[in-house]
Amino acid sequence: MNKTDHCPDEFWTQAVAFDRAHLWHPYASMTNPQPPWPVASAAGVRLTLGDGRKLIDGMSSWWAAIHGYNHPALTQAAQDQLQRMAHVMFGGLTHEPAVELGRRLVALTPARLEKIFLSDSGSVAVEVAIKMAIQYWQAQGQPDKRRLLALRGSYHGDTLAAASVCDPVTGMHRLFPGVMPEQVFAPRPRCRFGSSWDPADIAAFENLIAAHKNELAAVILEPIAQGAGGMWFYHPDYLRAVRSLCDAHDVLLIADEIATGFGRTGRFFACEHADVVPDILCLGKALTGGYMTLAATMTTTEIAETISSGEAGCFMHGPTFMANPLACAVAVASIDQLVSGDWEARIQGIEDQLRTGLAPCRDFTAVRDVRVLGAIGVVEMQAPIDLPALTRQFVEAGVWLRPFGRLVYLMPPYVINSEDLSVLTSAIGKVLSTL
Ligand SMILES: *Cc1c(COP(=O)(O)O)cnc(C)c1O
Repeated sequence: MNKTDHCPDEFWTQAVAFDRAHLWHPYASMTNPQPPWPVASAAGVRLTLGDGRKLIDGMSSWWAAIHGYNHPALTQAAQDQLQRMAHVMFGGLTHEPAVELGRRLVALTPARLEKIFLSDSGSVAVEVAIKMAIQYWQAQGQPDKRRLLALRGSYHGDTLAAASVCDPVTGMHRLFPGVMPEQVFAPRPRCRFGSSWDPADIAAFENLIAAHKNELAAVILEPIAQGAGGMWFYHPDYLRAVRSLCDAHDVLLIADEIATGFGRTGRFFACEHADVVPDILCLGKALTGGYMTLAATMTTTEIAETISSGEAGCFMHGPTFMANPLACAVAVASIDQLVSGDWEARIQGIEDQLRTGLAPCRDFTAVRDVRVLGAIGVVEMQAPIDLPALTRQFVEAGVWLRPFGRLVYLMPPYVINSEDLSVLTSAIGKVLSTL
C-alpha cells in the first residue's frame, strides 16, 4: 500500500493548494487554474484518488498506458534495470536495453526503416524527423527544400518546429510570428474511414504539393487517425494518394504514429490500413506502455547515409538523455507484452463494444457525431463542453475522462474488460444525455 493512500484530507488540501499556486499543467492558466484531482496510485485500469475513490481510466494517460498501470512485467523490467544503471550517456557508449529495443523496432516496422534515433519525447521525435528531412535535401544540394506540408486538424507536438506543423488555428500560430516556421497546409481530409472514397478529396493537397515541391522537404501527417487536433479518422485512399504524390514530386513522407502506433487503431501501425511505408516514422507515447518518456524516429538507410554524407558529416542532434536505459528496458518489456498477447482480438473486442456502447449518444440533441476506430471512441458535441463541470460528473460516475473542445473521447488501456468498458460508455451516455 502506498502511504499516500491513507493520507488525511488535510494533506491533499494543502497539496492541491500548492499545486494551484506553483505547478503549471498542460495548456493551463496560472491565474485561473482548475483544481486538479489528486491521484495517489494506479493499478490495472483503476486510478485511486487521494480520498480513496477509484476511477476507471478511459484515457490510458493520453494513449500511453496500453497495458494498464503498474503492470507486473513492466515494473519488474524497470526494477531490474534500476539495479544495473538508471542512465548512462549514449555518446560513445551503448547498452543492452537500447540494442534490444532497436532489434524489436527494426523487426516490427517495414523493412525499409532500418535506422533509429531514440529521443526523449514525441515532440522531440518530430523535431528530429523534420531536421532529418531538411539535412537530407541539404546534402543533395537542394537547400531550398526545407518547408513542410501538413494537414489542418493535425497535432504533432508543442516545441516550435513540431508546433509549426500543427493546425495553425487551434495551434494559435499567430502568437509566434517570426519564431515559428511558416509551413504549407492542406485541408483536413473529408472522406471518412469506412466510407466510400471520393478522389476529389485529394485535389487541394495535390495542387499544393505540385506548387511547392521545390521548397518542400517533406509531408508530415498522422496516418488515418488525427488525434489531439480533432480525433478524426480519414480514408486510407487519402494516405495512399499522399504516398504516390510524394514520390511523384520528390518530397519525403513523415508518418507521425506517436498516438496511433502499437495497435491503437486496430493495426499495429496505422499506415498498414493503407499499405503505405513512410520515409520517416515517429513513435512515442505507448512505446514504454506509459511508464516513461521515450520516443523514436526511424528512417531508411538511403536517407541516413545521405544525411551522413552532407556538410556536417553527421545528423545534428543528440539529447543528454538519449536512449535512456531505464526507458528502453521498459519499452522492451512493453513490446514483448504486447506482441506475445492477443492484441488484435482485444482491440477488435474493444472496438465492437465501443460501437454498441456509444451508439445511443447519436440520438442526443447535443451530439453532432459518434465515431469509433480500433480502441478509440469519440463523441463530437455540437458546442464546446464545460470541462470542469463534465469532469466532475464523470468522476462522480467513477470514470476518468478528459474531454477537450467539442470532443468527449475514450481510448482505454487494451487490458480493460467488458464490464469496466461498459461503465465508461454508460457514464458517457448518462452524462451527455443531460446536456
Ligand atoms: C502526443 C503527440 C505528439 C507529441 O508527443 P509529446 O510526447 O507530448 O511531446 C506528437 N504527435 C502526435 C501525433 C501526438 O499524439
